[in-house]
Amino acid sequence: MPQIKMYTTDVCPYCDRAKRILEGKGLEFEEINIHGSPEMRDEIERLTGRRDVPQLFIDDQHIGDDDDLAELAHSGQLDEMLQQGGGTQMETAKKNDGDGFEERNVIIIGGGTAGFATGVYTSRAMLEPLLITGDALGGQLSMTLDLENYPGFFGTEAAEFIKGMQKQAERFGTEVRFDMVTEIDFNRHPFYLKTYDKEYLAKSVIICTGASPRTLNVPGEEEYGGRGVSYCATCDGFFFQDQRLIVVGGGDAALEEGIFLTKYASEVYIVHRRDQLRASPIMQERAFKNDKIKFIWSTTVEEIQGDGEKVMGSLLKNVKTGEEEVFPIDGVFIFVGHLPNTELFKGVIDLDEQEYIVVDKLQRTNIEGVFAAGDVHDHIFRQAITAAGAGAAAAISADKFIAELEDRAYPGK
Ligand SMILES: Cc1cc2nc3c(=O)[nH]c(=O)nc-3n(C[C@H](O)[C@H](O)[C@H](O)COP(=O)(O)OP(=O)(O)OC[C@H]3O[C@@H](n4cnc5c(N)ncnc54)[C@H](O)[C@@H]3O)c2cc1C
Repeated sequence: MPQIKMYTTDVCPYCDRAKRILEGKGLEFEEINIHGSPEMRDEIERLTGRRDVPQLFIDDQHIGDDDDLAELAHSGQLDEMLQQGGGTQMETAKKNDGDGFEERNVIIIGGGTAGFATGVYTSRAMLEPLLITGDALGGQLSMTLDLENYPGFFGTEAAEFIKGMQKQAERFGTEVRFDMVTEIDFNRHPFYLKTYDKEYLAKSVIICTGASPRTLNVPGEEEYGGRGVSYCATCDGFFFQDQRLIVVGGGDAALEEGIFLTKYASEVYIVHRRDQLRASPIMQERAFKNDKIKFIWSTTVEEIQGDGEKVMGSLLKNVKTGEEEVFPIDGVFIFVGHLPNTELFKGVIDLDEQEYIVVDKLQRTNIEGVFAAGDVHDHIFRQAITAAGAGAAAAISADKFIAELEDRAYPGK
């Protein structure tokens, strides 16, 4: 039977994603946590040339990271590889368990703060909601370590907060599935949704697909992705022990991740295109106090350069003087904002000029019965607490919509 091996670190949403793909298929795997083991870290680099996790192997064959695994899993190639290797694991694997459409009252698309808040409210309204998590269980919060500003949450670890949200939603009856919505048809009712594994019909849909990190779109960024270019400090920081790093951005996320990276790096340069930060005063104070952090103001990253294997430098441009210099560097961590995950809904749901979903005060979209909540519509506040609030409101609106559909009494009607 082929042996699946996965190298991970302690706090790594991408590793969790890979684990869920394997677990969802009922596959056993060996997890090797390289955190705190420089030998293991160096071995990964030697074997794969990569400076990121997760890295997966089937027997001795390098499969790649979570994206590569997802692609293999969804194309069916993973099943083939495991069967060709004589494996029987797939025989016990969880399969699509129905031929027809699964019918639900409410489907929540997204497993971030908005999604889980929506889950709590719709399940307490006895709607037996299904929540489809997408790739990132916990959403953007799974990419950070600390959560200090959510009222009533006295822990500080974002991971603990995510577990709590899921547990609370499930306690009231929200069913959580690790799957991805790939197609929708909202021109019919019940609404139609397709995922990698199944097809569904739903009386109401609540879109909580949030946002994903924005890329810089500069030469070298894609080429050196995972070889020195990263969007996740907690996942990949460990690869940069005593090295020099650039963090690109000027908001809370850039500073928080920059401060985290000083655990490993010798120096962290925050490169920001303006001459002042967007980050909150408390984060600015922490960053300014940190001896390992230096600021490069009014500067943009024009190119990420390397030796073909790993990042060696970055071409920086001062936007005031136009001056350019190649800055020698070992890694570039990018936190320059987010783009709403609305690709799936283009042409169906009304979006604004920045491609965020347009909702009214009741979280309603232009399609009756389809609601949206969280960072997918909010480009102003973009906080866990505001996403949760919008999620609660969307759930109440969905409940009312279904009550009217079924002509059952709704409180306050
Ligand atoms: C590094 C970092 C640090 C942060 N720190 C803080 C903080 O300290 N305090 C704070 O209040 N906020 C913080 N934020 C912001 C906060 O994380 C967001 O405001 C919040 O997560 C938004 O929640 P959401 O549910 O709307 O979207 P997201 O968290 O983006 O979740 C979106 C969900 O949708 C899923 N999804 C996407 N597409 C599909 C699909 N096709 N099918 C199914 N599912 C899909 C994703 O897998 C994910 O589960 C931070 C953000 C970042 C990036």
